Amino acid sequence: MWIVFIGPPGAGKGTQCSRLVELLGIPHLSTGDMLRDTERDSPLGKVVASYIDVGRLAPDYLVMPIVTKRLAERDCQSGCLFDGFPRTVHQADLLGEFLTERKMRIDAVLHLHVAPNVLVDRLLKRATLQNRKDDNKETITSRLEVYRTQTAPVLEHYRGQGNVLEIDGDQSADRVFADILTALESRK
Ligand code: AMP
Repeated sequence: MWIVFIGPPGAGKGTQCSRLVELLGIPHLSTGDMLRDTERDSPLGKVVASYIDVGRLAPDYLVMPIVTKRLAERDCQSGCLFDGFPRTVHQADLLGEFLTERKMRIDAVLHLHVAPNVLVDRLLKRATLQNRKDDNKETITSRLEVYRTQTAPVLEHYRGQGNVLEIDGDQSADRVFADILTALESRK
């Protein structure tokens, strides 16, 4: 099963993905985690950090090789859960081509929506818990703007394909997870 999780920063994608991968037995592919894993002091890591630290999207020439390398691994052959990817319509097109070449397609797009004011509070709280450099007020504003201008169009792209499942992310994590399961069940 190929699932794409789309939602603004702070919507709770990471929390829900951890629960889902356990249930579905497919790998969790978080491009944010993969980019953060590049050694910060290496030349590549420095370039990656120069985007992450200011809340801008890393360029495709950095992101796509990391994604395609991961997708070539054995555990990704029959599906995975994308978290934070695709983030632009261009990335969605590249993913579509990759899957079509392998005679596969995205089964479901989960859209986790949460009001912007709730997101800012959540992200500021997370900053104190996880010590993420990009969870500060200025970078949060930039990440939300990047989501609105570059990632929200990805939803329209998938709506055109008719496979977006809408999930209210402004509820308890348990409630959100229950809604995700109901939504996935309803599309069978
Ligand atoms: P996340 O952990 O998903 O919130 O991502 C943290 C940061 O990593 C983002 O603000 C971007 O700078 C970068 N990033 C993550 N995924 C992507 C992607 N698919 N394309 C470009 N940049 C990304």
